[in-house]
This record gives sequence, C-alpha cells and structure tokens, in this order.
Amino acid sequence: AKAAGRNLVKFFSAEMAERARLRLAMEAGLRTCVAQRELALAFQPCVDAAHGAIVGVEGLLRWTSPTLGAIPPGQFIPIAEDTRLIIPIGAWVIDEACRQMAAWRDQGLPALRTSINLSAIQLRDPGLIDTLRACLNAHGIAPELLELEITETVLMSNAENYLDVIRDIRKLGVKLSLDDFGTGYSSLSYLNRFPLDRLKIDQAFVRGMLDSATDLAVVKAIIELGHELGLRVVAEGVEREEEAQALCSIGCDELQGYLFGRPMPGAQLPQWCEDAGR
Ligand code: C2E
Ligand code: CA
Ligand code: CA
Ligand code: CA
Repeated sequence: AKAAGRNLVKFFSAEMAERARLRLAMEAGLRTCVAQRELALAFQPCVDAAHGAIVGVEGLLRWTSPTLGAIPPGQFIPIAEDTRLIIPIGAWVIDEACRQMAAWRDQGLPALRTSINLSAIQLRDPGLIDTLRACLNAHGIAPELLELEITETVLMSNAENYLDVIRDIRKLGVKLSLDDFGTGYSSLSYLNRFPLDRLKIDQAFVRGMLDSATDLAVVKAIIELGHELGLRVVAEGVEREEEAQALCSIGCDELQGYLFGRPMPGAQLPQWCEDAGR
C-alpha cells in the first residue's frame, strides 16, 4: 500500500509539473501572441427568434500558438486575466471587431451589431474608454453597432465599482449585454441599476430546458424578467430545432447556437448570409 501511495504521489506530482510547465508556456506565448499575429476572432451569428433573420454576431477569440497549437479561450483567458495580458489582448479584440465591421461595410453587407466579450479586468482598466473610442474612430464605426458582453459575476462582486465605467460606456453610445445570465446567485436588485440592452441566458439552461421542468422554468423567468426591465433576451447554445421552437413560443427574442451557425472567420460571413437567405 505504501508503494502504491508513493506511486500515486509521483503520478500527481508529475501531472502537476506538466500542468505548471504548460501554464508557463502559455504565459510566455500570451506575451507575444498579439505582436506575432497569432490571434483571430471567429464570428457566430445571432438570429431573430421569430423570423430567423440575422440580427448580429458575437466575436469569439481564437489563439493558435506555433508551439502549443490551438488553445480554447476557456483555457487561455483565465491566464491572460491573471497576468493582466487580457488588457492588450482585449484591445486587439476591440480593434479587430471594428476592423472586421468596416470590412463587411466596405463589401456592402448591411450593418450588423457585433458583440465582443469583456473581462472584469478590462472594465477596471482606466484606459478602456479611450481604447474603445480610438478603435471606433479609426475604422469609422458607429458606437451603437458595438456591444460589450459582460458576465453576471462581474456585477455581483462590488457592483458599485463598475457603475461609473458602465455609464461611460453608455455615454459613448456602445451597447451592453449581460452574459451567462442565470448562473450567478446574487439578488437581482442590481439589474435595474445597470443600464443594459440585452440579457443572454446561459446555455446550460437551454441544454436542459426540454428535459428539465426546472430549467424550463428558469428560462421562462429570465425572459419575463428581461422584458419587464425593457431588455431583449437572447438564448445561447441552441443546437436543436425543438429548442428553437420552444424558445420562440415562450417569447425569447434572439437565438444563437450551432443550429444556426458555428463561429466562423469574418470573411465567411457574407457567404453564410447569402446561403442562409438572410
Ligand atoms: P461565451 O461568451 O459564453 O461564448 C459562448 C461559447 O459557446 C463559445 O465558446 C461558443 O463557441 C460556444 N457555443 C456557441 N454555440 C454553441 C452551441 O450551440 N453549443 C455549444 N455546445 N457551444 C456553443 P468559446 O468560443 O470556446 O468561448 C468560451 C468562452 O471564452 C466565452 O463564453 C467567453 O466567456 C470567453 N471568451 C471568448 N472570447 C473572448 C474574448 O475575446 N474576451 C474574453 N474576455 N473572453 C472571451
Ligand atoms: Ca459571450
Ligand atoms: Ca455566454
Ligand atoms: Ca460562458
């Protein structure tokens, strides 16, 4: 038993060493990923629940490291946050979203609301508003076309700290949506204090809503609450036709998910719109 225990320790420490090594490699890679042009934004369509017409896109970050390969954002974003590298990386995301919007415009595509995800660290960065303004100006993009997605957890912890920056973002004309809604467990009292435009229902509820009465109840409640507050409600992670139908019948405004389109390079979007007849 003692030998087995020793092997277990050895196994765990080998695994831990491997994880530490990978983390260090990712940190090093993240330091140079912007300069070395290793980042890309993929765009996923968001459609009107009633008509299926495209109403916007969400930009999702992709990192392909020459040494580590393609790394999902769920893995590298926490590290970028810990190291504050999310600030330059996030600035690249803002600029790239604006650049892509300008490219679509120049190709004659109708203007599409484009949302990007923002970390709490970026919201606390005093340079954020200047970065947003500079990127919008550089590419000649109307601020109303850009939307920032922030997660519920940001507003749960010390909501007061974020009120000023949220107001500044709104003053700029940029839109705001609350992402992954329903996963936090805070009181809902902060919701009406934040000037938001959209609520995005977390995909876990969408995944469960056809089998779980509780999940369906949560989805219905979020839609009602959102509408009560004058917000549009988006469901994410819609993969099945039956989910789309159920969401539409309970009044969800917009749908996003693999059923309609996977995240794709920006250059593919005009063709997607054409193929989908949107
Ligand atoms: P999120 O903002 O909740 O984005 C939705 C995630 O669900 C994306 O994963 C998307 O590819 C995936 N998804 C979309 N439709 C479906 C579907 O029908 N089924 C399933 N199973 N999944 C679907 P992704 O691209 O891996 O991004 C993961 C998370 O990483 C995002 O979650 C967001 O929190 C974060 N993230 C992505 N890009 C950025 C960024 O530029 N900045 C920051 N701060 N975070 C980002
Ligand atoms: Ca999001
Ligand atoms: Ca989400
Ligand atoms: Ca998420």
